[in-house]
Amino acid sequence: MSSTTKKPSSNFIRHLITNDLRNNKNDGKVITRFPPEPNGYLHVGHAKSICLNFTMAAEFNGQCNLRFDDTNPEKESVEFMESIERDIQWLGFTWTEKHHSSDYFEQLYIYAVQLITSGDAYIDSLDSEQIRQYRGSLTEPGKESPDRNRSIEDNLALFSAMKNGDYPDGEYILRAKIDMASPNINMRDPAIYRIKRAHHFRTGDAWCLYPMYDFTHCISDALEGITHSLCTLEFEDHRPLYDWFLDKLQTPSHPQQIEFARLQLEYTIVSKRKLAQLVDGNFVSGWDDPRMPTIAGMRRAGYTPESIRDFCERIGITKKDSWIEMAVLENCIREDLNENAPRAMAVLKPLRIVIDNYPDEQVEILEVSNHPQKPELGTRKIPFSKTILIEQDDFAETPPSKYKRLVEGGEVRLRSSYVIKCTEIIKDESGNIIELRCNYDQDTLGKKPEGRKVKGVIHWVCEQHAIDAEVRLYDRLFKLANPESEEDFLDALNPDSLETLTGCKVEASLAVSQPGDRFQFERTGYFCIDSINSKPEALVFNRTVTLRDTWQNQ
Ligand code: ATP
Ligand code: MG
Repeated sequence: MSSTTKKPSSNFIRHLITNDLRNNKNDGKVITRFPPEPNGYLHVGHAKSICLNFTMAAEFNGQCNLRFDDTNPEKESVEFMESIERDIQWLGFTWTEKHHSSDYFEQLYIYAVQLITSGDAYIDSLDSEQIRQYRGSLTEPGKESPDRNRSIEDNLALFSAMKNGDYPDGEYILRAKIDMASPNINMRDPAIYRIKRAHHFRTGDAWCLYPMYDFTHCISDALEGITHSLCTLEFEDHRPLYDWFLDKLQTPSHPQQIEFARLQLEYTIVSKRKLAQLVDGNFVSGWDDPRMPTIAGMRRAGYTPESIRDFCERIGITKKDSWIEMAVLENCIREDLNENAPRAMAVLKPLRIVIDNYPDEQVEILEVSNHPQKPELGTRKIPFSKTILIEQDDFAETPPSKYKRLVEGGEVRLRSSYVIKCTEIIKDESGNIIELRCNYDQDTLGKKPEGRKVKGVIHWVCEQHAIDAEVRLYDRLFKLANPESEEDFLDALNPDSLETLTGCKVEASLAVSQPGDRFQFERTGYFCIDSINSKPEALVFNRTVTLRDTWQNQ
C-alpha cells in the first residue's frame, strides 16, 4: 500500500523522545509499554495506543512491553488476556517482555508499608460515601479524615491485619497522605489499597487486598524501567500523583508520563465497559461481531492489519481531543482492498436470464483476470452457459432516465463476457418478473459490438455452476455520530445495522476459498468469508465496506 511506505508524519512524542536521546536521558534507552486491563477485547482506540507504543520503541531501537493491568479481579479473565495477545500479534507487533501488574503484588505491598512507615499513608475507616463527602469539590477544598493522624504503629498493624483477612470488604482503606486542600482532586489523599475478597485469575485467593490503579501503574512502569509512559489525556491530572508516588518511594527508575488524545470515532463506541454492555445484552453476536469496533470484530469483518495501522498513522498523535469520521477508517480498508483484493462476481439478489440463441448444452470456460491493474494476481476460470443470473437491480421494466443497465429491447455487456439483448420479460401470475429471455451476440467476447455502442456492463454468474451463499450486509452500529450524547447510548443503536441476504449466488471459483479470504465483488463491495459461520458447503460472506462512501451525502 502506497500510504504505508510514505514517511510517517511527525508528532510531539517523537520530538520529545528525540530530544531526550539528544540529552542522553535514560542512557539513550527507549522503553515503552502497552498496558491493557484484561476486562474486555481490544478496540480500535487501543490500536492507536498499540501502534504508538510499538512504533516509537521500534523507531528508536528500543523495546515495548506488554503489561496486563490486572488489579480489578472481578472483571478480568484469561479469555480477555488471550484475546488481547492474539489481537496485538495480528496487528503485527511483538512485545519484548510480557508482565502482569499482579506479578508485583508482593512488591507493591512492601512499597505501601514503606509509605506508611514514612508517614505518607494511613488507614482510613471512612466508608465510600463519607470519603466522597470529605473530598470536597472543584471549588471547595476537602476535609481531613479523623483517621488521618493515626499513629504509624497503628497504621502498620491495621494494614497487616487487613492483609490477613481480619476485616470485611470496605471496612478500611489505605490512603496516601498528600493534601486535602489541593486544587487537584486526585491529590486529596487518594486510595492506595482496598479490601476485596475476589478470586484473581492469576493469584487466586492469595490476596484479599488489591492495589489501586494510580499506585500500581507508576510503580509497574518504574520496576520495568519504562522510559516513556504514554497514556491518554484523562490521566493528565493524575500525573502529579504518578510523580508523587515515585518520588516518595525512590523506585529503581522514574519514568516520564506523557499524555496524548484518545481516539474518538464517530458512529461507534470505544469503551470496553460499554462494548461489554452490547455483548452482554445480546445487541451484537459477541465481541467479534463484525459491527463491533473491536480488533476481533474488524478482523472478522475483513479489515487487514495494514489498514488499521494505516488508519492510526493517518489520524496522528496530538494533545487535543477530536472526533474522527468513520469515513477515514473505511477509506483505509477500501484503499487496501482496492489494491490487493482479488475480484470475483457474486449476485446478491438473483434474476434468471435464459439466452435463447446460445447452444443448449454448451459451457464455455472464460479466463478472467483477478485484478484489472495487477496481472501478478493471476487469472481464474469462469464458466458461461445458456442460463445465467444477474442482479435484480440490473434490470428495469420502466427504467429511470440515464439507466445504463438492461431494459427490454436493450443491450448490456456481461462483464468479461458477451453482449446480450433482452427480448422478453417472463412474469408469474402475480406479475413479478421471474425470468428474462435474451439473445447474445457471439462476436462480442472481448470485442466491441459492430456498428453500435453498448454502455452498460453488469456482473453475472452461471446458474448451473454458481454456489449458494449467505451475505451479511453490515452498516454502522449506531445511528448517531456520538452515541454517548444520548442519555442511554443504547438508544442510539442503528436498528438496520445488519441485513442478512440468503439465496445469493457466487461464482464457482470461490468454492476453494478459505475463512478470512477477502474479495471485491465486482460492482457490489468488499467482502470477506466469515471465519466463524462459513462452511465449505454453505458459504457466508461479510461485507467489509462498500465500494464508495455511501454515507457522505446523507
Ligand atoms: P476502556 O475504557 O475502553 O476500557 P481503558 O483506557 O480503560 O479503555 P485499558 O485497557 O486500560 O483501557 O487501556 C490500555 C491502553 O490503551 C491505555 O494506555 C489507554 O490509554 C489506551 N487506550 C484506551 N482507549 C483508547 C483510545 N480510545 N484511544 C487511544 N488510546 C486508548
Ligand atoms: Mg480501564
